[in-house]
Amino acid sequence: MRPTRALIDLEALRYNYRLARELGGRKALAVVKADAYGHGAVRCARALEAEADGFGVACIEEALELREAGIRAPILLLEGFFEAAELELIDVHDLWTVVQADWQIDAIERARPSRPLTVWLKLDSGMHRLGLAPSQYRACLQRLQTMPQVGEVVAMTHFARADELDCPRTREQAALFTQTVEGLGIDGRPLPTSLGNSPALLGWPEVQGDWARPGLMLYGATPFAAPHPVADRLQPVMTVESQVIAISELPVGEPVGYGARFVTERPTRVGVVAMGYADGYPQFAPNGTPVMIDGRPGQVIGRVSMDMLTVDLTDHPDAGLGSRIELWGRQVRAGDLAARCATSAYRLLCGVKRVPRSVV
Ligand code: PLP
Repeated sequence: MRPTRALIDLEALRYNYRLARELGGRKALAVVKADAYGHGAVRCARALEAEADGFGVACIEEALELREAGIRAPILLLEGFFEAAELELIDVHDLWTVVQADWQIDAIERARPSRPLTVWLKLDSGMHRLGLAPSQYRACLQRLQTMPQVGEVVAMTHFARADELDCPRTREQAALFTQTVEGLGIDGRPLPTSLGNSPALLGWPEVQGDWARPGLMLYGATPFAAPHPVADRLQPVMTVESQVIAISELPVGEPVGYGARFVTERPTRVGVVAMGYADGYPQFAPNGTPVMIDGRPGQVIGRVSMDMLTVDLTDHPDAGLGSRIELWGRQVRAGDLAARCATSAYRLLCGVKRVPRSVV
């Protein structure tokens, strides 16, 4: 079998979840959309179910996968529903839904759910992707609050630039959110709120609500480009590793791989590793991108191909066929690798394909 695999550390996942809840203060909805950012949604939800306050997914298909696997915890559809017909499944499977547009409120008004729906009403506080405008928000909320179809309402918003720690936008979005939802509770009780994604939880302690919504940080990757004291405490959940499957000894002046993007400047021992861009490794990783070779730092040389990449074994005299190569994980951090390759840790983790995953 091809010796390429992703090892998933569920203890690290639980550690990161606890950290997220500690930072957020109250409850935390573990975001497991996109197959738990490539880590396996069912296995991650099972690992967290005993302690997670709920899970966040992108669509009903992802929610049903969790319900079919026996997950009973609350599940929130982070993008809401895409057509009114989904409301029946939302009711049958006891899901929570985001409401981000007034056509969804009309649909809820026409629905006849068997129990009141839990709705997270989304405010567009400046991201300008999903959400109601501040001018619509109060009226929409008041409409929902009078409907027998609706039970609890949580007020939520989403930050656009929380990973930029010197940018005032996060504070501005939070201020607009607070101003919009102020005084909107029922019977003197304020509305429960939800603001923080991973960068907000890690970097903006002053903008938290009742419900945190951590995604990336659960998987142990930093959303920040620079080192960060809290993000650096996260434990990587996924380690992707492979092996050296071929070796060539080259003299000075020989090109390696497609496009001759690396030319030897010394007699060089080149190791071929069974990991390529079709597996999710960044195609444009530059020469010098870090890997670990049998636990010691090494470098990628030459262009990454579809199924393979090449590393420099010259300074690793003990390395040979079968040597273990960590592409990212505990030693090569996903965030650092992503930054080197002009991509993001989000994309790196979600982009793993063809690589069998197993739990360590
Ligand atoms: N909340 C919402 C609405 C999201 O769309 C996402 C992810 O994109 C998250 C929370 C989690 O974000 P992050 O992975 O940055 O923690």
